[in-house]
Amino acid sequence: MEKDCLFCKIANGRMNTDFLFESDNVVVFRDINPHAPVHLLIVPKRHIRSINDLTDKDDAILAEMITTGRRLAKQENVNVSGYKLLFNVEKGGGQVIFHLHLHLIGGWKK
Ligand code: 5GP
Ligand code: ZN
Repeated sequence: MEKDCLFCKIANGRMNTDFLFESDNVVVFRDINPHAPVHLLIVPKRHIRSINDLTDKDDAILAEMITTGRRLAKQENVNVSGYKLLFNVEKGGGQVIFHLHLHLIGGWKK
């Protein structure tokens, strides 16, 4: 755990956040400021600062984040209507929290 990292605290259960899914490596919870009817964050328990900090040994966690996105899209019933899986990378790319997270966004009205 990284000291003073909000998502380290959330992902490791220190903030009493409701998880929609949890495995040994990742958790999923709702974004506090949703940009769509469904807006989830898929977050590794281990601190990784951003996409730019990934190394070859992180391939498995990245794959698990994406397959978790697919699973949660189905659980939230947006898999057929469609959704976005999005990484904001660094400040210019809109990253505000510097602990890796994948946004799952969907559920817009047809
Ligand atoms: P970023 O812009 O870094 O890609 O996304 C960070 C996201 O985290 C934002 O969409 C923001 O609303 C969300 N967020 C920030 N603080 C909290 C929090 O304490 N709890 C939850 N559930 N989401 C948060
Ligand atoms: Zn962290």
